[in-house]
Amino acid sequence: MFEQSISTLAQKLRDKDISSVELTRLFLARIAKFDPQLNSFITVSEKHALEQAAAADVLLQNGKGTSLTGIPVAHKDLFCTEGTLTTCGSKMLHNFIPPYESTVTSRIQQAGAVMLGKTNMDEFAMGSSNENSFYGAVKNPWNLDMVPGGSSGGSAAAVSAGLVVAATGTDTGGSIRQPASFCGITGLKPTYGRVSRFGMIAYASSLDQGGPMAKSAEDCAHLMQAMAGFDEKDSTSAENPADDYLASLNAPLTGLKIGLPKEYFGEGLDSKVADIIMAAVKEFEKLGATVKEISLPNLQLSIPSYYVIAPSEASSNLSRFDGVRFGHRCDDPRDLLDMYMRSRAEGFGAEVQKRIMVGTYALSEGYYDAYYLKAQKIRRLIKQDFVKALEEVDVIMGPVAPTTAFGLGSKTSDPVAMYLEDIYTLSVNLAGIPAMSIPAGFADNMPVGLQIMGNYFAEAKLLNVAHQYQQHTDWHLQTPTMVKGA
Ligand code: GLN
Repeated sequence: MFEQSISTLAQKLRDKDISSVELTRLFLARIAKFDPQLNSFITVSEKHALEQAAAADVLLQNGKGTSLTGIPVAHKDLFCTEGTLTTCGSKMLHNFIPPYESTVTSRIQQAGAVMLGKTNMDEFAMGSSNENSFYGAVKNPWNLDMVPGGSSGGSAAAVSAGLVVAATGTDTGGSIRQPASFCGITGLKPTYGRVSRFGMIAYASSLDQGGPMAKSAEDCAHLMQAMAGFDEKDSTSAENPADDYLASLNAPLTGLKIGLPKEYFGEGLDSKVADIIMAAVKEFEKLGATVKEISLPNLQLSIPSYYVIAPSEASSNLSRFDGVRFGHRCDDPRDLLDMYMRSRAEGFGAEVQKRIMVGTYALSEGYYDAYYLKAQKIRRLIKQDFVKALEEVDVIMGPVAPTTAFGLGSKTSDPVAMYLEDIYTLSVNLAGIPAMSIPAGFADNMPVGLQIMGNYFAEAKLLNVAHQYQQHTDWHLQTPTMVKGA
């Protein structure tokens, strides 16, 4: 049952083959059995889930609801959920119970989905391995010695292990795509502005975007149906109407023009990963696509510009955590300054403190032009590379990450090696375009994701391209051995 698609489960719920309460109990039992090893959840909201499931069953009894009604999901722990602990993976928010609901989680709830809990993540979404969580590292279900990727590693591990049908994630520089790739699931980072950021705890506001993580592109499309669209509560929300993401899934790919950026296949890319990506591209050719080499010449500049822009925006966003308004406050402060300083020193972990310092420095007087402004100019160049390339091709394909999931602890002492993991994902956020990761094979028994990038608001196209591939391959249907057969 835990391996079924949303469409199949929705049919079973409608046919009364199973109730939402039964389905919810089944997944809760899987969480109880496997999550002690994986650590993919920070909060499991069992009581709340069973109440929502019972309400979903009433709707289903009356022939009402959507394809998500009664389906168990989980949310990354940076979406504010009214009445449910929301930590953002940080000690700073270890006691924060939001008084309101984020737009994404509220829309998914209105569609009738059942929230099983909140998933583990790198603190304030800063990281590529999920080792920066105050709540401990998440393990990769394919190999417990490996990282699941980050920062949405809890959502990726939970979906991959079948602890939940689908989940939400957020992607500032790759945090949906890279963990999806490392855990062998499908993830979509929508166009900046397509999904509301209201109630999403901000990391880098000009880059952050929420999106779906699920086994297949079709399941992601079901989630997008609920979560995408204009929201007046988010001033950066796009006003154009969201597409029907399910309607075009079956469109044939004949004549699809695929661009392969030569910079994505250069030095640093593991040759086994490269082979898998090329094999996937061959599969698309069989489906009627044509392939052409393209160039995104400023790719190398994405790491330095991202690692100025993201920490700068983070240093500004995180100034609100002052020990007064939210979360952690130190004991017995001597005076106001002591309270600010100790609350922040105790509440934030090492990586977050480092980025606040880098960002504050980059924004300080005299350095703003040299760093932040310069990085924004490079960002424009990176965006122009994509705009130009996408005039010639429909989609761009390449790897999501240079390697498969790496060992827990293997990169924690080398920040440059860790940041290099983001080389193929950051530029997409800098440009604001949508991109997906879909399972495309295994190297050394670990999953490899293919990245598919598209033009602004081309989510329906990406989902169509991914779905067609998944109709002809079964990489997305593989289940890690540790969680089989229960
Ligand atoms: N790894 C990148 C970072 O640490 C991206 C994280 C993200 O997308 N939230 O900033």
